[in-house]
Amino acid sequence: MFKKAFIFSIVGVVLYACATVAVTGRKQLSLVSNSEIIPLSAQQYQEVLKEGPLSTNQEQAAMVKRVGLKIQKAVEQYMASKGASSELNGFAWEFNLIDDPKTVNAWCMPGGKVAFYTGIMPICKDDTGVAVVMGHEVEHAIANHGRERMSQGMVAQFGLSTLSAAMGQNPSMTNELLMQAIGAGTNIGMLKFSREHESEADHIGLIFMTIAGYDPNQAPVFWERMTKQGGGQEPPEFLSTHPSHSTRIKDLQGWIPEAQSYKKI
Ligand SMILES: [Zn+2]
Repeated sequence: MFKKAFIFSIVGVVLYACATVAVTGRKQLSLVSNSEIIPLSAQQYQEVLKEGPLSTNQEQAAMVKRVGLKIQKAVEQYMASKGASSELNGFAWEFNLIDDPKTVNAWCMPGGKVAFYTGIMPICKDDTGVAVVMGHEVEHAIANHGRERMSQGMVAQFGLSTLSAAMGQNPSMTNELLMQAIGAGTNIGMLKFSREHESEADHIGLIFMTIAGYDPNQAPVFWERMTKQGGGQEPPEFLSTHPSHSTRIKDLQGWIPEAQSYKKI
């Protein structure tokens, strides 16, 4: 948590460092630009893939790629319909499945680098389940949630520093902050996605999956499965934030008619 005096001192910066979330119009702290964070993400993604190991389950790996490409297309259509295609500048999408049955998680980095872990696949069950998760995670990247959290993390760790200065000062911590910011890191303490971020990801993710041709009615059904699965283990990124499951499921149900109206774009 920021101290009051600290908040006071950064107000001036926040005034001009706020970007606007393309889709919702919400203001967000943005000390880092996409042109800086996308190359750093691409580099870190290569590291993640190198460590892997990538899943040898061809069927599941193909499922992640197949659904990913459809969601990518849907995102491109959606952003074009909003006149916001330039938000996708620099994106170079990739969709990979990492062999880690204990990790019930998935994430998308700035620039469209997606990882699923095999631990989430039994809950996804099929293409539609993968589309629920994919839409949600991709929206975190499109709405620059990771970038926003990276900015917050940098303020906390480095003060008002540029990304390149932070990299120069402490590259491993900067990389760690990035992984934290997208919901994948472990070492600096959890920077959880906020309720607001989760809600944005659920809402717009539902629209993405619908445009991609999947049935939005399956999103609340997926969350029911996730809730049942959640008991006892370390919560994945999805479960780590606060919309109670019943609220989340109710919200999703409420957004289905809106999502269906996007089928025609
Ligand atoms: Zn999320």
